[in-house]
Amino acid sequence: MPLTPAKFPELINAIAADINEHAEAVTELDQAIGDGDHVFNLQRGIEALQKHSEEIAGLDWTAAWQKIGMTVMTAVGGASGSLYATLFISLNKNSKGKPATLETFAEAFLSAVDAVKQRGKADVGEKTLLDVLVPVANALHQGVTAGKSSSELLEDICRVAEAGVESTRDMLATKGRASFLGERSKGHIDAGAKTAQLMISAIATVISQTR
Ligand code: ADP
Ligand code: MG
Repeated sequence: MPLTPAKFPELINAIAADINEHAEAVTELDQAIGDGDHVFNLQRGIEALQKHSEEIAGLDWTAAWQKIGMTVMTAVGGASGSLYATLFISLNKNSKGKPATLETFAEAFLSAVDAVKQRGKADVGEKTLLDVLVPVANALHQGVTAGKSSSELLEDICRVAEAGVESTRDMLATKGRASFLGERSKGHIDAGAKTAQLMISAIATVISQTR
């Protein structure tokens, strides 16, 4: 699977387009149970990454994760900024000195999602972006271990990401701003889970088109 930093400019542009396309809908979700700034926060991060995308494309993959993480940390406010920064910085730590393979990535991603859990003191079932990231990390790791093909992996990942988004609808929010609403948080999809799914599906589309 061509997941080299050289692909980064194309990936970040695809993510930007997907987030922009769904910006209004996601903002409505975030206004229902959050403070409505989630898309804006992400767009700031994405724009910063686009500015650095040629530089990132020229790095080796562990250095690229670090640069992505630091850029996100500096550019993005809100809970999601520090959580995504943690994800990428942890990907750097977990892939250092290892071959740039899908197996390494699947393991590194699983550990990076664990780092996000620790950072947010949250887990699956709390109506957050973890309801997408955790099942995706598990599906990728299990699929790679089972020797699934790239197209099977991409299909699995997109499917569990969508199911993860939908699963947040009836959950009670126990972390982040939505938790202030208590029972009233139920009946709304979590904005952070939705954007995680949108970004993953944008990445999957680019990868499937370049195989
Ligand atoms: P803020 O909540 O600080 O305004 P954002 O609006 O950018 O930040 O992001 C909100 C999203 O962050 C939520 O929709 C949720 O998915 C995610 N989130 C919030 N708190 C946590 C947490 N402790 N752990 C994991 N994800 C969280
Ligand atoms: Mg917010």
